[in-house]
Amino acid sequence: MTGTVCYVATCKSNSERAKKEGELIRFFTFPKKKEVLKQWVRLCRRKSPFDPKNKRICSKHFALDQYEDMIEAQIKNTMPKRLKETAIPSLNLPLVPEHTISQRSKRMELKEQKRIVESLLIDEAPKENASPQDMSACSSNSLLQDISNHQSQHEILNQKYIALKEQCEKLKNQAQQDKAEIENLITTNKKLQLSADHSQNTLNAKVYQHFKDGHQASTYNKEY
Ligand SMILES: [Zn+2]
Repeated sequence: MTGTVCYVATCKSNSERAKKEGELIRFFTFPKKKEVLKQWVRLCRRKSPFDPKNKRICSKHFALDQYEDMIEAQIKNTMPKRLKETAIPSLNLPLVPEHTISQRSKRMELKEQKRIVESLLIDEAPKENASPQDMSACSSNSLLQDISNHQSQHEILNQKYIALKEQCEKLKNQAQQDKAEIENLITTNKKLQLSADHSQNTLNAKVYQHFKDGHQASTYNKEY
């Protein structure tokens, strides 16, 4: 994109885009006063040294009190145009020059940040930094918790034991009933056996009598 640009390292101001978007931005040439010029160059936070001759810094970096015509502009309700000779950029500047932070120091910074966060987290935890009284309260609390855990476990086991005992009693009763039933069946079976034997004997006797009667009759017929 063509147009005037701002030389502050992180600033994206561009005169053409500002015009298109209806944004009022002014671009200022670097000052003549050596001390002020040095400040401007430094505050641009550029990686390499540069010749400020053709460079500009935009109005986004100057506070209102840095303008010579501030009051005039306020009365006219317009944007001030002229910076004071001593004006220094102070707004929207890069915080730290990017190139001064090496990768290694970035890593160290991250490590340090992590360490601080971790130490804060540890401080939050009640176990650390606890006074002896707190510690004993802590351990007796955990002991009470342990006891209560054991008690509830014992209660569960006890209930299981009672249930098993009841089951065992039921099975025992069932076995006794089964035994009685079997004995009944054996008795009934014996009775039936006796009854069957008796019937068989009676039948045998009847058959015998029948044959005997038949024989006597035929003998009688031969005689007469
Ligand atoms: Zn700028």
